[in-house]
Parts: sequence; C-alpha cells; structure tokens
Amino acid sequence: METKLWIVDKNVDNIQSYPQIIEAAHLLAKNEVVAFPTETVYGLGANARSEEAVKKVFEAKGRPNDNPLIVHIASQSQLEEIVMDIPPIAKQLMDAFWPGPLTLILKQKPGTLAAAVTAGLDTVAVRMPDHAVARQLIEASGLPIAAPSANTSGKPSPTLAKHVQDDLYGRIAGIVDGGPTGVGVESTVLDCTEDIPIILRPGGVTKEQLETIIGPVKEDRAFVKKDEAPKAPGMKYTHYAPKAPLILVKGENAFIQQLINERRAEGMKVGLLAASEHQALYEADYIVAPGSLAELSTVASGLYDALRQFDDVHVDIIYSEVFPEAGIGQAIMNRLCKAAGQQMIEQ
Ligand code: AMP
Ligand code: MG
Repeated sequence: METKLWIVDKNVDNIQSYPQIIEAAHLLAKNEVVAFPTETVYGLGANARSEEAVKKVFEAKGRPNDNPLIVHIASQSQLEEIVMDIPPIAKQLMDAFWPGPLTLILKQKPGTLAAAVTAGLDTVAVRMPDHAVARQLIEASGLPIAAPSANTSGKPSPTLAKHVQDDLYGRIAGIVDGGPTGVGVESTVLDCTEDIPIILRPGGVTKEQLETIIGPVKEDRAFVKKDEAPKAPGMKYTHYAPKAPLILVKGENAFIQQLINERRAEGMKVGLLAASEHQALYEADYIVAPGSLAELSTVASGLYDALRQFDDVHVDIIYSEVFPEAGIGQAIMNRLCKAAGQQMIEQ
C-alpha cells in the first residue's frame, strides 16, 4: 500500500495551518492506520472503536493478539466515554502527570471500544500524550486512538520517523513526521484497579515521582524478579532487540574492553553501547553513546536509536555498559535487559 509521509512542526498550534494533520485524521476516521509522534516514542494509531482498524495495527506490527493496546485521548470527556469510574488516586495522578508519559489501567466501560484493543480484558490502558501533534491529530479525528509503538513487534521502539519508515513503509497508510520524540522510552504503565497502584512497566514517569503524589506504589514482581509472570501481557515478550546478540556487562571499563578484545580476536565485529563519559576509553568496531551518566534522561532519549544503529552497521555481537537504576534509569535498564534477553555478565 502507499504510505503517505507528512512533515509537520512539532509545536503545531493552529490545526487549520496543517492540512497534513487533517488528512491523517481523515484516514484514521476511515479506519486506516497512521503513525504519529508522541513525547515518548512514535505511535501507530487506529480508531479504537473499530475492530477493522485495530486489526490492521496488529497485522502491520506482527503483534501478538493477547497484547492489549494503549488508548490515547486528548480530553477528559474522551476519558469518561471509555472508563467506568475514576478512582480518586487516578484523578490525582492525571492532575499531576497528564498530559504526559503515564498510562493508567482503569475499569473499561463495556461496549465502548473494539474488543481487540483490550485483548478481551475488562480493563483499559489510557493516556493523554504531551505532544501537540499527537493531541491535535486525536482531536481532529474525534476518536479515541489505540496506539502501540510504531515498530515491528520485537524491535526497538521508534524515536524518529525514519525508524517507522524502516519498519512499516508500505504496510501503513501514513506517517506524520514531527521530528525526534523527547523522552525516548515508553510511558509508565500503572494499574489503578487495586487499592495500592502497581507499576506494570517502568517508563517516563518515575516511581519516585508517582510516590510524591500518591504515596507508596507497588511494582509488578515480574519486572523486578525476572522469572515471574507479568501482569501486563506485553511484558512477557522479547522486545527492543537489535539483530545481533546484546549482552550487558556489569564491570570496570578494562573488563569490558577485555571481552571486546576476546571477541575481536575470534574474528567478530563488536559493537559497544556506553555512556558518553566512557566512550573514549574503549576500542571496538562500532561504539554508540546514547547519552550521559550525568543526565540519564539523555540516555533514555537516545537509547532506541543507538540499538537500531547496530543493525545498520552489521555487528556480530554487542556489549553494553549497565546504567544506574534510579529515576528514569529503571526504565532504561528494564528495556536494556529485555533487549539483551536478560543476558548479563558480571565481573
Ligand atoms: P506498547 O503498546 O508497546 O506501548 O505496550 C503497552 C503495554 O501496556 C503492554 O505491555 C501491554 O501489555 C500493557 N497493557 C495494555 N493494556 C493493558 C491492560 N488493560 N492491562 C494490563 N496491561 C496492559
Ligand atoms: Mg511497544
């Protein structure tokens, strides 16, 4: 199929000056799927009320059917259309973090969404993105928009329109290019259907930030302790993986260099993902530094592009430094561990 490409300013204010967004919204209303930027990663949007539209998302991505989608909204009234009631704690969190990278799991109002969106669950994941293009597009479509990350299932999420093109060109109706996304890792998924909310997936809003608003929150054991079954269906799948095997290494720079040297001596082309502070300390075939230890948010923004670069240069193996798990570091390490299939070498 023809994939339209629309380039827009990320700070779009008056939608009337953006016929590209209006055209994209029309395609959504016609049950076509369209990729668009959010502040976390690019999303692959579809009319959340239409089984036909939602099916196209699963097909384009090759996403397993039991992995529910996040519904993106642009207003409070859209929220009330699709959820039963809003617990006071959820209300406080929306006031504090919406629009923003926080997804809340709430009880669904039956019959308001295509069943495939929630994979048959009686709950729904909802968020209001903090990105002018995303919100204008949702508003112009007049629809709740189901949108997982706009990548082929299993690959790193897209943080540039180019990443979406690499994965989905010819398979979707269009891509709205609003430049690089900001946060770079996906939203935090928080289950608000229990008395004490549970983080199902760490993301753009940190545990510490949540706790300053509502007090203690729990964490799904599955992402803390790797051998338990996760409550968010999608968390059990391999994800974010570059083509070459990725191995995390917890150890000093010299230890990591020694591993690189050993693999190169065996004739392998070795990639390394390291903090920008350490980049100059290493010698490897391809080194990417997504960001700085002094500002972990820069590592988050650059992480998926870094992982995708290794595919372009065809390395045989990739080693990665580990990053501190505080704040956004928890989401960074969650994604890196998944990308590595939990493979870690400790010195
Ligand atoms: P993605 O669409 O790739 O950002 O992933 C969305 C994440 O939210 C996946 O891990 C889903 O399994 C999870 N999720 C979506 N809806 C629900 C729900 N109703 N209950 C629990 N987890 C959900
Ligand atoms: Mg995803």
